Amino acid sequence: MTLSVMAAALAILAVVLFLLAAQSRKRIGIPAGALVYQDLPGQPFDGKPLRSHALGICGKPDCLIRTVAGIVPVELKNASKPPARGEVYPSHMIQALTYCALVEDQIKVPAPYALVIYAGQQVRRVEFTEQRRRWLFDTIRQLELARERQTANRNHDHPARCAGCGVRSHCDQALL
Ligand code: SF4
Repeated sequence: MTLSVMAAALAILAVVLFLLAAQSRKRIGIPAGALVYQDLPGQPFDGKPLRSHALGICGKPDCLIRTVAGIVPVELKNASKPPARGEVYPSHMIQALTYCALVEDQIKVPAPYALVIYAGQQVRRVEFTEQRRRWLFDTIRQLELARERQTANRNHDHPARCAGCGVRSHCDQALL
């Protein structure tokens, strides 16, 4: 493990320990409940991927918290500047909704919402509404179709999104 990886792991561990302190959790908006899953370096148990054969998706949330309302997926993000007005970035939205769908399909427990936590303990709550559930399932279908066609068209006109995109060097539709 390189020094930078170790530093990142320790930073994540510090954040999680902070989040799991009861007082801190309450103050920053983490629900009370038992931690039942973790996928973070240095934590006591490994998270295995959650899978939904029905939806054809899988994924590993950073944490799952079992609450009285159901299981809440939690995702920690390094971005120091979360979007305005309590929103989350589109990619984080689809990730959070995907984890909710995975929890419901694999663990058979409701996932009423997910939390996306940006650096600085800025907690954003993503409700798993019926409307968003339909949008997620439709998006998954579109992805499957794009995979079959082996092509996908850009669905936005925002150069800034391309600027931060990890696959830009391979993309023939990049705006930059
Ligand atoms: S570089 Fe391509 S894949 Fe990335 S955001 Fe832009 S259009 Fe989408």
